[in-house]
Amino acid sequence: MAVVTPAMAGTPGAVAAARPLGACASGLPVSHRTVVFLDPGHGANVAPTKATSGGSTGIYSGENTSGGGEDANVFTVALRAKALLEQAGYKVVLSRTSNPDRLRRTLWQKGNAAETANSGKPADIAVSLHTDAKANIGAGQIYYDNQGGYRQNNSNSTRRVFDNPAVAAKSKAYGVQFQKVRNSLQGTWIGLYAGHHFAASRNLGSYGTIPIVMLSAQHVPWVYNEFGRTTSSGLSSHDISVYVTSVVRGVEHSIGPAVVGCTP
Ligand SMILES: [Zn+2]
Repeated sequence: MAVVTPAMAGTPGAVAAARPLGACASGLPVSHRTVVFLDPGHGANVAPTKATSGGSTGIYSGENTSGGGEDANVFTVALRAKALLEQAGYKVVLSRTSNPDRLRRTLWQKGNAAETANSGKPADIAVSLHTDAKANIGAGQIYYDNQGGYRQNNSNSTRRVFDNPAVAAKSKAYGVQFQKVRNSLQGTWIGLYAGHHFAASRNLGSYGTIPIVMLSAQHVPWVYNEFGRTTSSGLSSHDISVYVTSVVRGVEHSIGPAVVGCTP
């Protein structure tokens, strides 16, 4: 039977400080760590293909690059948040490990990766990182899993629906935590919404009311962040730091301290 020990002392609200990873007694091997999946958006132009597994099976989706410094900014945020979360004892898995993305993953492949991020099992939480012009989103927005949300192919009648009420409820609760953290750190109101609308006119391969990464990962509570760009060329170094801190604190407030399982 697994022995569980808290990996991080202190309150969940504290910024993750440098401290030793949770360890197993008497040299027992680690069998499990709390897994955080970080998804820095974009990274490659990939034509839509039909998902072959996961909750979006049969739905077309690809990936695209982005302007306004988004690809590079969110990748920086992901790497810095990953380092801090690992210091706090979490295992962190990224949806892409280079910028540009050498693997050229589609959105459905990124979602599927979250479903298996914990040694073949779903991650405990997934966090998408995006930026957009303030004219579009103000200081920022947060989307949570939209129970009943769907995507439908532009080219045929195939439709897939998000149907996991328990995960959707967790996702919403985590979104509320991220909203509180970001409201405080950014000093302004951050909107919180169930899913997001994707119009057929965007030619993404499918249209509907939930991001593909969420639809593809119906066993992972997902928090999808949009952060308003400081200028048209991207985030300032200050805003990058605010974004990093909001991810670390948002994770800690959502799922609590990292837990380490030890195999006797
Ligand atoms: Zn984006």
